[in-house]
Amino acid sequence: MIPYSRQLIDNRDIRNISRTLKKDLVTTGPKIEQFETKIKKFVGAKYAVAVNSATSALHVACIALNLKSGDWLWTSPISFVASANCGLYCGAKIDFVDIDEKSNNISVEKLKKKLIKAKTKKKLPKIVVIVNLAGLPCDLYEIKKLSKIYGFKILEDSSHALGAKYNGKRIGNGKLSDVSVFSFHPVKIITTLEGGVATTNDIKLYKKMQMLRSHGITREKKMFKNRVSGHWYYEQHLLGYNYRMNDVEATLGISQLQKINKFFIKRKKIKKFYDKELRKLPLILPENKRNKISSLHLYIIRLKNSSIYFRNEIIRKLRKKGIGVNIHYIPIHFQPYFRSLGFKKGMFPESEKYYKTAISLPIHPGLKKSDLIKILKVLKNLLKK
Ligand SMILES: *Cc1c(COP(=O)(O)O)cnc(C)c1O
Repeated sequence: MIPYSRQLIDNRDIRNISRTLKKDLVTTGPKIEQFETKIKKFVGAKYAVAVNSATSALHVACIALNLKSGDWLWTSPISFVASANCGLYCGAKIDFVDIDEKSNNISVEKLKKKLIKAKTKKKLPKIVVIVNLAGLPCDLYEIKKLSKIYGFKILEDSSHALGAKYNGKRIGNGKLSDVSVFSFHPVKIITTLEGGVATTNDIKLYKKMQMLRSHGITREKKMFKNRVSGHWYYEQHLLGYNYRMNDVEATLGISQLQKINKFFIKRKKIKKFYDKELRKLPLILPENKRNKISSLHLYIIRLKNSSIYFRNEIIRKLRKKGIGVNIHYIPIHFQPYFRSLGFKKGMFPESEKYYKTAISLPIHPGLKKSDLIKILKVLKNLLKK
């Protein structure tokens, strides 16, 4: 089966990992900070906190942004459940803002309308988690403007978007959002196996997230509340977690980041092939916008025929031919857990329409030209009838 996405780990990555495995420090050693430095430079942010997953990064970001029980967190229904769960971990209430039919990202228009309504009911969100789906940036400038008017914080779920650019600058640079979160799960742009990072330009958020990833503990003398010292001394100031990344994972991250441009060249080639070859089929292809450069984590096509049975048949037939397509995502409010919180079918029509028609085609640096030709041939056969 040709997977929709897959890690590309080479011998150099393995050699680098083996070196770290022989060191004294294999958990919190020097590699974490090195990796954080490289990531923050890459995205253009002041600070980066590496953790054991993007889910953990979303959680510590929500706490650092002071999300409390009874507050509201809004996000897009078309994302992985983690984009909403981070709010629930903090006891916050969740609501969704429907997507824009062209970008498949949160709709600025619908966000604005919902904010106006929420203001009259005094139910404004504390955080809006925006999701740069497939690696395509959201309308950051417009959302930032709304955040100033309505006073919410912007948390970017950029799990897909490492390397993506908005107005010429990399996603996660901290200028148009409060915190941006990236995932290093094997299917994402680069991998640390499991792993994630939060980037920000706010030193207070940075310090807080750093403490929260390790039990709420600080070892910085300047921060101590008691006048005790000694290399053994530390203080717990917050209720934190063990969300630490380890040095072996960070080593893989550093090694992978060195290859990211090669990865992008491959992804761009695949996108170009699909853009050109699929144009004549009854499909809606990913949106191209001048001020947005996608990291091309996913290549999501939408069928013009909007029957879910048709979509399911296409997926079944593609998989039968060895093409590992997938769907990103089932609307979060369709999940039984979210149904139990009161969400119903019909609440977010554009997301529900998306779900009936979306298919993620294979795109990853290990994909071969012969794979692409096979995918095209099968798709053509299925859609021509
Ligand atoms: C992968 C992903 C996550 C979770 O990432 P982990 O590192 O596996 O915790 C969250 N949100 C989105 C949109 C993702 O694609």
